[in-house]
Amino acid sequence: MITTQSSCNDLDEPGLIPLNDALTRILAAAPQVGGYERIAIEKARSRTLAETVTASFNVPGHTNAAVDGYALHGSDLPAAGVRVFEIAGKAYAGQPFQGVVKPGQCLRIMTGTLMPEELDTVIMQEHVEVQGNAIVIDNRHKAGQNVRNRGEDIKQGQTILHPGRGLTPPDIGLLASLGIPEINVARKLRVAIASTGDEIFSLGQTPTPGGLYDSNRYSLMAALDRPDIDIINLGIVEDRPAALLHIFEQAGRFADVIISTGGVSVGEADYTKTALQTSGQIAFWKVAIKPGRPLAFGQMGNAVFFGLPGNPVSVLVSFYLLVLPALEKMLGITNKPIAPMFQARTLEALHKKPGRTEVQRGIIAQDQSGEWTVRSTGKQGSGILSSMSQANAFIILEHHRESVRPWEWVGVQPFAGLF
Ligand code: AMP
Ligand code: MG
Repeated sequence: MITTQSSCNDLDEPGLIPLNDALTRILAAAPQVGGYERIAIEKARSRTLAETVTASFNVPGHTNAAVDGYALHGSDLPAAGVRVFEIAGKAYAGQPFQGVVKPGQCLRIMTGTLMPEELDTVIMQEHVEVQGNAIVIDNRHKAGQNVRNRGEDIKQGQTILHPGRGLTPPDIGLLASLGIPEINVARKLRVAIASTGDEIFSLGQTPTPGGLYDSNRYSLMAALDRPDIDIINLGIVEDRPAALLHIFEQAGRFADVIISTGGVSVGEADYTKTALQTSGQIAFWKVAIKPGRPLAFGQMGNAVFFGLPGNPVSVLVSFYLLVLPALEKMLGITNKPIAPMFQARTLEALHKKPGRTEVQRGIIAQDQSGEWTVRSTGKQGSGILSSMSQANAFIILEHHRESVRPWEWVGVQPFAGLF
């Protein structure tokens, strides 16, 4: 069979690679970094665990009462009618009962209190009738109820956390419950960032006519502001091959990753590629994605290099779709947070060209029937950062998809799982 290629399509250009291919190649080339540090567990949130954690004792360490009430022998429970139990004493969390509770007796007990060996059941105080120094209970209760058994959470010897785990607040709590004050975590990833462009000005400077403030470095610093990353701020680099080469070579000595923005298209002042060809290894791709099409990817010294396009929306889209997965791989995170993707009804028509993945910006909401809907934030130009700021989700229109009519289903990815 002869297949015809769609003609006169600006997407049929040589060197244009599908988004997934770009991601696969990036992940294949991004190495996991070695090295770890020992830190206090309260500082370990979102750090990658670099050891196996095994429980050296049971949690809970002892069987204890799960409610405030009366502990007794389960075998004494009435099968029918009611039964009276004499109260033999009182026990509090941290002050266990010293005496013996005989058959037919009970013990007033508070939540968390060590259960005397001979008792196995607690009746909630709301379910008893107190009569002087005795209680009356009916036949609704089961032997063994309302106690927390020794080791029911964690058994001695059990492995509770594996290397590669990005630590969460409950993980930190688990470590504490095992009496572990410090742990080994993967060292922080060192990520160097640079903006390029003669028209780009730092905050505090006064831009000349045609100049503009550097927003890319700030959105990237914010996106990279996480406990497992050290940011190395390389500032703004002028559009001169020698200047770019100098900065990138330096950063390649101490960073794990270099991210630059701007200077990767085909204009006459786009020198990022040139600089890298001189000293590093560079693959330049046109990724079939909008926005964010040109991408320089490679190696500079010890660092993995990402040359992102200059437009502010392109920077963020390529960061979240292509750079972040690589950073997570380099950090060795095995339980990376799930950035959910689901289907929503578009409330309006969306213009789309087949042959590239389009990452449009939208506002998702649940309608009265509980259905998720999405509307566009308006103009989708790659320089319109306000439209991305207003959005709460990406609308991901797949490679082969054409324009979308109102009420069609589209894939959306909430920023809540990404940012
Ligand atoms: P370039 O890829 O260098 O041609 O830049 C593409 C567009 O993005 C140009 O209009 C630049 O002015 C703009 N741009 C580049 N870098 C930045 C930056 N750091 N902050 C804001 N806009 C930028
Ligand atoms: Mg530029």
